Amino acid sequence: MDLKFTGATPTDTERQAVDALLGPPASGWEGAATRSDEDLRWARGGAAAAKDRRDQLLPALHAVNDRVGWISEGALDYICRRLTVAPAEAYGVATFYAMFSLRPRPAKVLHVCTDLACAARGSAALGAELTASLAPAGTPVRGAVWQESPCLGLCERAPAALLLRAGAPHTASVVAPATAGALTDAARAPGAAPAGPPPEAAVPQAGRPGLVLLRRIGTTDPASLDDYRASGGYTALRRAFALGPAGVIREVLDAGLVGRGGAAFPTGRKWEATAQQPDTPHYLVCNADESEPGTFKDRVLMEGDPYALVEAMTVAGYATGARQGFVYLRGEYPLAYERLSHALDSARTRGLLGPDVLGQGYAFDIEIRRGAGAYICGEETAIFNSIEGLRGEPRSKPPFPVEKGLFGKPTAVNNVETLVNVLAILEHGAAAYAATGTGSSTGTKLFCVSGQVARPGVYELPFGASLRELLELAGPPQDLRAVLLGGAAGGFVRPGELDIPLTFEGTRAAGTTLGSGVVLVLDGSVELPRVLLRIAEFFRDESCGQCVPCRVGTVRQEEALHRIKDRTGAAAADDIALLREVGQAMRDASICGLGQTAWNAVESAIDRLGVYK
Ligand code: SF4
Repeated sequence: MDLKFTGATPTDTERQAVDALLGPPASGWEGAATRSDEDLRWARGGAAAAKDRRDQLLPALHAVNDRVGWISEGALDYICRRLTVAPAEAYGVATFYAMFSLRPRPAKVLHVCTDLACAARGSAALGAELTASLAPAGTPVRGAVWQESPCLGLCERAPAALLLRAGAPHTASVVAPATAGALTDAARAPGAAPAGPPPEAAVPQAGRPGLVLLRRIGTTDPASLDDYRASGGYTALRRAFALGPAGVIREVLDAGLVGRGGAAFPTGRKWEATAQQPDTPHYLVCNADESEPGTFKDRVLMEGDPYALVEAMTVAGYATGARQGFVYLRGEYPLAYERLSHALDSARTRGLLGPDVLGQGYAFDIEIRRGAGAYICGEETAIFNSIEGLRGEPRSKPPFPVEKGLFGKPTAVNNVETLVNVLAILEHGAAAYAATGTGSSTGTKLFCVSGQVARPGVYELPFGASLRELLELAGPPQDLRAVLLGGAAGGFVRPGELDIPLTFEGTRAAGTTLGSGVVLVLDGSVELPRVLLRIAEFFRDESCGQCVPCRVGTVRQEEALHRIKDRTGAAAADDIALLREVGQAMRDASICGLGQTAWNAVESAIDRLGVYK
């Protein structure tokens, strides 16, 4: 790919896919098939027009990929002409995302998860069977191809696979728990695989009293706005309008709500800082790109209670002075996309979004932007770049998003779980909310329990409950080897440490982290060096590569773990010393959390579990 246009032409199908998103081209300068007399006299486009349209680059790439299954040079060229983007830049963006292909591939692509939770449930054997029954990974066979995938966020149904079928319309379906037979059938069948189970299948506590965030899962129809309202929906927004923006922020501050994505930053302070910025417009971004391996709680919330997110975002937008919200949604979550899209449409129709929300004179709307398979896009500033049509690389901070975020404007970024907590705060009041949990960790927390347990799924417990209590709900194995808390960026806990309180401060004091709520349970059958290698491979693969400590360090880490995968004691000592040195450099000098935490789990396995002794 070059900085200049190559003369490659799109097929009619590719052209139609782009035009369906952007509308027909207005001139020859924008890629119209013929040039008018006017086009020959006037050049149209330029830097300002390009800046205005650049954020349509990712949706346009999706449009072609969804329709055809891959992005040809002609299609990329056409997108570039339509958006006034240099082809080399668009190539850099398209190749950033794992779900796009710039080489021909079949319309049906089967993504088979090989990440931590699925590996603990036999994904390696599944891959071997698929190779035997279908073809090796990456080899097209009868209009389909399968490929290994990082975590698909379907850990409660591991091992899992996602079948994407390009076309008009494109379809996506989940096969989980997956067997080689079911996957082979899905790959060969003309249509999509059968529909998946209802959302409550992912929530073993569904319908039990005392749930706050999960209370509607399995008890309310996620497609019905009437059901949502009948179960208390939009009470919080009405109270927000009664309190006014400053009053809402006061309630959230008094409730002690902190972000549930892992950083635990006070939500009220973030909102206050955004609301106070004189620059306009303000934006609200919901980070629904939960891609930490082993995390799937936000998916369950969006699939099972989508209106709650719509309402919570409206409250957040009102408090922070935003008129436009974006949900940046994992590309691997087709059902959540469908449910949220439906919820947004019906909220608009009923005046709950749009120019005059609930007749209160407040204008707010929400747009979904789909990610395309990049873990790093869960980092808040990487989301901005991704939405703006750039490579999803994190930005250096400061400036912080509350000052200069999306499109360079003040932006509040919260994840799904954090936002949904706001509804409970406004419905019951800050004091009632803060009465649950501990002094520093108020409210309840969602935990994603996967691996070797009898009842994997999303659990909701008050902060302060112990890891033992959580595992007893999920049914731990007899021969518990270790628990990985916080996902690939987290740390291991030994079987003798199950009384750790599940709070931000409690896990920190115990030398681990709560992270985004991942609880991956491993029994005695697990080969820990293989688990560590998988973690290292994941970080090496997902590093965006813009800073040296992370780009080089994640490679060196994986190499060292490869060398010692079958060694212990003195035979591993040199490489463990190297791992410590590399790990410290990544922690100290990486730009963002990926590099800073890429050594956490490995370090804790060495120091707490004595894995190479
Ligand atoms: S730490 Fe890694 S992921 Fe983060 S900016 Fe640097 S290279 Fe990219």
